[in-house]
Amino acid sequence: MNFTVEGKAITQDYHVPGGMFGGAKTVRALKGVDFAVEQGKTLAIVGESGSGKSTLARIIALIDAPSSGELRMDGDVVDISRRRPGRGLRSKVQMVFQNPYGSLNPRQKIGDVLMEPMVINTSVSTAERQERAEAMLVKVGLGPEHFNRYPHMFSGGQRQRIAIARALMLNPTLLVLDEPVSALDLSVQAQVLNLLADLQEEFNLTYVFVSHDLSVVKYIADDVMVMSQGEVVEKGSREEVFANPTHPYTQQLFAATPVTNIEAIRARVERRRALRMGKTG
Ligand code: ADP
Ligand code: MG
Repeated sequence: MNFTVEGKAITQDYHVPGGMFGGAKTVRALKGVDFAVEQGKTLAIVGESGSGKSTLARIIALIDAPSSGELRMDGDVVDISRRRPGRGLRSKVQMVFQNPYGSLNPRQKIGDVLMEPMVINTSVSTAERQERAEAMLVKVGLGPEHFNRYPHMFSGGQRQRIAIARALMLNPTLLVLDEPVSALDLSVQAQVLNLLADLQEEFNLTYVFVSHDLSVVKYIADDVMVMSQGEVVEKGSREEVFANPTHPYTQQLFAATPVTNIEAIRARVERRRALRMGKTG
């Protein structure tokens, strides 16, 4: 099987104040996590707050090095002792965060936001950078006219589209999305999820999608991994996990989640799809 990204026995320790004699104590946020995602598929990571989802996401996105374990990208072992992976690898993996406003510089025009990764990582000419950035704005449902605008001029959903566009500028194969729609209104969530589904299909992207919202997971996931207190307590295909949650923690999680959202999201996505199909022939 050809996995885009695979992890074995990943652990992560944080050193925080509060140890004996004024020293640090260790919090083990990940206790030996195994996972794998095939190319073009979506692995959803669910679990309560503090279960280690974001910690794992940052490791998969090559932002943080784990304390131990093995991470493979496209079959090659990532040297986790090196904090800065090589350019080639770095550009293949991108991250999208929950709060797009926090991750956008308020004084930077959108065009510059999108061109910046190319300035740092490629030797593409200024003219071509602009051309590619404008094309990407169109891809994510914005337009070239947005090129010279600032982040505050956009809605939450549009800002998340900008963050997604920025993530795609270097043609990555893997997107790590940490609660990417959790801050958005339900109707806007549906639009952004729909966009992500379209982009995944077009570019054969692999997604690691962190969410605490099972309705979103049900819509987007191929495989589901449930975390609790730094451990994977359940994993399987979406169908398996939703049809028959076996772990007590998963059953509890499912019982506590309202299932109405998913129907609303699905209905909106279907309506928009139908509309667009009608328009294009
Ligand atoms: P989740 O995203 O599932 O809410 P996190 O990965 O953010 O969980 O956190 C997992 C655990 O690690 C929590 O106990 C949290 O308090 C701790 N933790 C996360 N980040 C840090 C950090 N930078 N320093 C110390 N502890 C942290
Ligand atoms: Mg988190």
